[in-house]
Amino acid sequence: MSHSADVPLIDRHTHLEGSLDPGWVRRESARRGLDLPVSLERLWSGVAVPFESFIEAFLFGAALLDSREAVREATLAVTRRTQAAGGVGFDLWVSPHFLVVHRRQLSLEAFWRGLEEGLSEARSRGLRCCVVVDAVNHFGPKHGQAVLDLVLPDLPAFVKGFSTGGLEGCPFREWAPVFHRARVAGLRLAAHAGENGPGSNVREALLEGGVSRIVHGIRADEATFDLLAERRIPVDICPSSNRALAADVDPHPLPRMLRAGVRCALGTDDPGVIPCDLATETAAARHMGLDDIAIATLRRNGAEDAWCLTDDESRPQGL
Ligand SMILES: [Zn+2]
Repeated sequence: MSHSADVPLIDRHTHLEGSLDPGWVRRESARRGLDLPVSLERLWSGVAVPFESFIEAFLFGAALLDSREAVREATLAVTRRTQAAGGVGFDLWVSPHFLVVHRRQLSLEAFWRGLEEGLSEARSRGLRCCVVVDAVNHFGPKHGQAVLDLVLPDLPAFVKGFSTGGLEGCPFREWAPVFHRARVAGLRLAAHAGENGPGSNVREALLEGGVSRIVHGIRADEATFDLLAERRIPVDICPSSNRALAADVDPHPLPRMLRAGVRCALGTDDPGVIPCDLATETAAARHMGLDDIAIATLRRNGAEDAWCLTDDESRPQGL
């Protein structure tokens, strides 16, 4: 049996736009004459805020990603934070549609180039990494199709997945055609579900949306935990993010999920907005009462189900 130190430590869920280095955000804001939103200062100081206030803080940072250099810098922030905590890889969620089409703050080409440069540097430092394109659930399936219209014609090889995030305002069954199109294009499918929406969203995302990976899932019931375990669905768990944005889910269900056999793994979600890294998330998991064996299970799941560690043979060429 291998020691857990032999198992690669992976940040299984982090957002590019939510991973900016706070020092960089302060400098860039000052340079541009922008005041930091109160919501961001509160989150940086560890105060829980409503999800809408988090979105405001998240979008403030995202607005600074208006050049290839800024996107590269954001990718390097993910790299540095991962490495500093002993991590050797990450699955990185990105929102190009928001930056390129909604905000029109940089071109798609500049976005991909900045990302490629940042990821190349991460790889040169020995990290494994891949990208998941995120669409906004509450903007609905038309928006989802627009995201795919934007990215599919010239999709970089480092993009391995498609996901929904944001407020869980639109039923996942309505997203099914979007997920289907992404799957046909060779992308793996994930959804933020059971985070700010009801636990039943987890079951619906799986059974009607057709996704094969859940982010959070913390509001699901025991029967859904059993379903997740039975189908060996990877679930990304981000304790600091949950404590800030889903504070009413207390105690955190991670111990129950692991006992049910759910393939949970740790991620940092938005560590530039809600300060954390893989070390703090592991400490938070221990604080929930998890023992060494459970912590090792999280790490092993984190590596075994990581998309950044799996070679992708399913992507058709030319899509
Ligand atoms: Zn997330």
